[in-house]
Amino acid sequence: SLVLGIESSCDDTAAAVVASDRRILSSVVADQSRLHAAFGGVVPEIAARAHTEKLDHAVEAALAEAGVALAEIDAIAVTAGPGLIGGVLSGVMLARGLATGTGVPLVGVNHLAGHALTPRLTDDLAFPYLMLLVSGGHCQFLIVNGPDDFARLGGTIDDAPGEAFDKTARALGLPQPGGPHVEREAAQGDPKRFDFPRPLLGRPGCDMSFSGLKTALMRERDRIVAEKSGLTRQDRADLCAGFQAAVAEVLAQKAARAIDAYLATSPSAPAIAVAGGVAANGAIRAALETVSRDKGVAFTAPPLPLCTDNAAMIAWAGIELLAIGHPGMDPLVARPRWPLDDSRPAILGSGK
Ligand code: ATP
Ligand code: FE
Repeated sequence: SLVLGIESSCDDTAAAVVASDRRILSSVVADQSRLHAAFGGVVPEIAARAHTEKLDHAVEAALAEAGVALAEIDAIAVTAGPGLIGGVLSGVMLARGLATGTGVPLVGVNHLAGHALTPRLTDDLAFPYLMLLVSGGHCQFLIVNGPDDFARLGGTIDDAPGEAFDKTARALGLPQPGGPHVEREAAQGDPKRFDFPRPLLGRPGCDMSFSGLKTALMRERDRIVAEKSGLTRQDRADLCAGFQAAVAEVLAQKAARAIDAYLATSPSAPAIAVAGGVAANGAIRAALETVSRDKGVAFTAPPLPLCTDNAAMIAWAGIELLAIGHPGMDPLVARPRWPLDDSRPAILGSGK
């Protein structure tokens, strides 16, 4: 069967058509970064308006690219949270209208579940598996037991790494979203020139912290600027390289802890997957892959366009929920906050 996915929880307006046999027929992503560029970050009001303007077109483009008529769609999956309320509402309202018009089931999907289930769309991965979800707003280790069953092992106690990448980019005058730009600079830099902190590595468990790292980077930047009244290209590259190396090492070392904790529950075929925007980072993927190999655990990461926000992951999460007879969020409302391990029956899985 064919599912239309709709995603508008942050600053990407996205629509996709995915078949239940894991074929991605189309995945359209209209990013708004140009609209927000002058503000150094995502402005919720601008995002909401842009989603309202672009959603129809994204859906049309996704159907056209897939070569599928709306009448051929078997279900619609839409991000119902967490995210910026205006954008989520735009998506939910459009999806409601389309589902009412066509009479197909409508599934409200958790954006984070979309990220966390993506490795099953792109690889043969059975439940349960260990997941590092690392994105613009989140960073957590999860045991994924099923499409609606996530157990949290630990996560960041302050900033998410994506946020730290974005702040680092801002501090160094690089464009937003910062991750890809910092990665490009880091490729030319010396990761050993600056000795950035690896917070919480000494502490047991899988919790992480990234806000001190950002502060340390700003301190080094200010020190160089004060000494030489400006940053050279090399300074900037070295700062990016040092920052990225610190993030990668913290994620890898904590992943090792998470793998140990996970293996203690002795799953039959242990595997770890990474997803979310920061999973697009080559250095971080490589560090996680090394740790997985050392621990004898299979490693998988989605292709880069499926790490950052997209609607194929939302369609796929819908497919996964429908396959187990799950109604998705019920009743379907827009939830700005919606932790993955929160399955309050009145909201999710009431079975009605
Ligand atoms: P969330 O999924 O937590 O609600 P989000 O949807 O805004 O947040 P994603 O689209 O999943 O986040 O990820 C975006 C983040 O990923 C941004 O912070 C961006 O800087 C970061 N990112 C994207 N590509 C890279 C990269 N190559 N290296 C590091 N970070 C990256
Ligand atoms: Fe996301």
